[in-house]
Amino acid sequence: MEGKQLLRVYNTMTRQKETFKTLQPNVVKMYVCGPTVYNYIHIGNARSAVAFDTIRRYLEFRGYRVDYISNFTDIGEKLARTAEAEQISVAAVAAKYIAIFNEDTGALNIEPATYHPRATESIPEIIAFVSDLIDKGYAYEVEGDVYFRARRYTNYGELSHQPLDRLEVGASQRTADEETARKEDPVDFALWKAQKPGEVAWDSPWGPGSPGWHIECSVMAGKYLGETIDIHGGGEDLAFPHHENEIAQSESHTGKKFVNYWLHNGFVTIGHDDEKMSKSLGNFVTAHEVLAKYDHQAVRFFMSATHYRRPIRYTEDGIEEALNEVQRFKIARANLLYRRRDAIAGVDQQITAAIATAREQFIEAMDDDFNVQNGLVVLHDFLRLMNNYAAEEIVHLDSIIDLVKQLETFLSIFGVNLAQEDHLNSDVADLIVQRNVARAAKDYATSDRIRDELAAQGVILEDTPQGTRWRQQ
Ligand SMILES: [Zn+2]
Repeated sequence: MEGKQLLRVYNTMTRQKETFKTLQPNVVKMYVCGPTVYNYIHIGNARSAVAFDTIRRYLEFRGYRVDYISNFTDIGEKLARTAEAEQISVAAVAAKYIAIFNEDTGALNIEPATYHPRATESIPEIIAFVSDLIDKGYAYEVEGDVYFRARRYTNYGELSHQPLDRLEVGASQRTADEETARKEDPVDFALWKAQKPGEVAWDSPWGPGSPGWHIECSVMAGKYLGETIDIHGGGEDLAFPHHENEIAQSESHTGKKFVNYWLHNGFVTIGHDDEKMSKSLGNFVTAHEVLAKYDHQAVRFFMSATHYRRPIRYTEDGIEEALNEVQRFKIARANLLYRRRDAIAGVDQQITAAIATAREQFIEAMDDDFNVQNGLVVLHDFLRLMNNYAAEEIVHLDSIIDLVKQLETFLSIFGVNLAQEDHLNSDVADLIVQRNVARAAKDYATSDRIRDELAAQGVILEDTPQGTRWRQQ
């Protein structure tokens, strides 16, 4: 692995940055809570997927293989409500919104997980897991429901740093509904729920029913990654109760530590008072709407250019700014690539050294809990390096390629794929060559016609002593 530096990650459990050590050399076992597939995801949900995709890409850049599992919750009341509203089956609701999720995350250049398990694929394992918790005295059945005895798990509340007595006050203040009345203790939570009229159900030792929400993540993390995993991620709103419950279930079941590093991403806020974007507050913008309106790479860059633990303020100006920034990287790349036609063979040692330094600085920045803000400072210096080199009188072909490749690598960690523009670049480059030939032959009618043609495509030409540069309007 490159460099002397060591990756440090902020662990919600200990509330500090810790040196990152994996269970297996060069392999990261990573689980990220995925969406409940009953509706379009909003920008806040997309942010979580972007944050952990950026982290995953950086880990891959650092030489790790990342086994990345992210679930789809394809059962529960929310799906049942959508099924009723749209007059389709629960399975059709899941299929529809998984397809939309894949479309949105694809547009955001989020790599698919190694596997996206669905809760409904793991029902036998969920039943076995819950049975084991009952056998071990951690869970009990009441009228077809199964609850977890939170108090029996001694570290309950550790992740969210909330002592159980405080949770108890919170729980008893809630209205005593039927479910609370069935529980031995208000802090207990459901592992399995008895079938209600009209609900999808599976047979179980406790009668027909379906799993509670928390249990699926414990089961699927264990099933696909093992009893102990390196990283568990999710939005900060999931730390309690969802992740707290996952820990209690998993550790009671296996007797082993469930997760070594807990990572939580910040919210997306919206409006003048920076309110958290959420479905329940009704102040959300769907990823679908935003992607229909703006350049996809700009939206992705807008989200990945903020440190994952910090909140993102959603504003149109913010996306515009991100668009301009991506544009600056694209122009620098295109102008440098254009210099290939008058470059001399070989490599410029100074550039090789400057690239190595930039890489080291970038790693140093990002190894500090994926600090993208400091990583971007390095990228802006790198942009200057590229622009200065493109303006040099003598340039070396291999150094041009090295600079462009390094830029592409850096930006791919942010989910921006610059090479995607190449078809456009080559068309534009061909027209520029034709125009230069016409100009050399003093055929100004043709050269003006090509300039106008490019202008119509939004391509602005600038003739410099080093050749013709272009940028998109
Ligand atoms: Zn989860």
